[in-house]
Amino acid sequence: MREELGPPCGIPQTILQIITRPNREREEAGVVFSPSSIQACHRQPTLTKDHDYWTDVKAGYKPTRGTIFHAGLANEPPPGGVLGVVRELRMQAPVDTIYGERQFWGMPDEVTLLRVATELRLAGEAGKGTTITRLYVKITDFKTRTEVGHDLVRADERHIQQINMYAWLVARFLPGWIKSRGACCAGIYGDNGEMELNQGVLDVDEVIVDELSIVYLDMSRPRTFTSKGFLYDEGKLKGDMVDGKWRRRKPEEHEELELEPLKQYSSEDVEGMIREGIEGKIEAEMMLAPPLTKLEDVRLMCRSCPVRPDCILTGKKEGYDMTLQEAIG
Ligand code: SF4
Repeated sequence: MREELGPPCGIPQTILQIITRPNREREEAGVVFSPSSIQACHRQPTLTKDHDYWTDVKAGYKPTRGTIFHAGLANEPPPGGVLGVVRELRMQAPVDTIYGERQFWGMPDEVTLLRVATELRLAGEAGKGTTITRLYVKITDFKTRTEVGHDLVRADERHIQQINMYAWLVARFLPGWIKSRGACCAGIYGDNGEMELNQGVLDVDEVIVDELSIVYLDMSRPRTFTSKGFLYDEGKLKGDMVDGKWRRRKPEEHEELELEPLKQYSSEDVEGMIREGIEGKIEAEMMLAPPLTKLEDVRLMCRSCPVRPDCILTGKKEGYDMTLQEAIG
């Protein structure tokens, strides 16, 4: 029986459990290579094996909030007007690397099944002149943020790479998985109910990713980016100086934010990116990887890195410039 009211950090036990084992589910599923693992710092896992470290639970709260938010969306039914939706389904596909074949895993937040079309294979495609049934989908990735500010007019490059990796995975994994489910009619499918259909989706030979979308969410607003083109959102409130004082216009008027389209990479480019990431992660197990050098990566990953002091010390001995890692407080 616990006698104290809670941990001194003030973070509830349930949340602390997630903070201290953020990869529990992936570890249990045996996931090694995924968009987030190949984008992470490859130096950190090696240093955590060789050095004592402690977890900054306060710094771990922010990503945990995102995990909880995603769990909340996992069972939402599909919106009207589409065939169905697949949410939080763990997908996998093999990738050839110089170290042999490896499985690449990923769990896209939302794959909307838009339409099925039976089409003729054209010149340049295998089986020219025969028909093929294609399922067109949209992939959406939700990202929680402290603030969706007026300066957020393009999606983060790392997030664009991630969603392109999901697109690569969806195209390879989903046709076989849908066939294996015998999705003949409206209903819920999948071991954990990952697919919900408004109507049956049968005999899919190929999945075409028609649209990529990243949605950033803070406590007050979402902001959406799409591969389909520019989107627009409300920016700062407009006002005028009246008698030496700034006054909001009435009715309210806002500056317009033009939101840059997401880049959709070719399948070959994405596969190359995945292969390079897997090989980099494997190599880091054989030889300590160099420290991060891109400012945005350092800001994102080094600030809350549990082995930063050891990384700096080791890096200096190795002859690296550790100014960026030292500069972040
Ligand atoms: S401080 Fe940065 S570069 Fe060093 S191990 Fe941690 S995340 Fe990697």
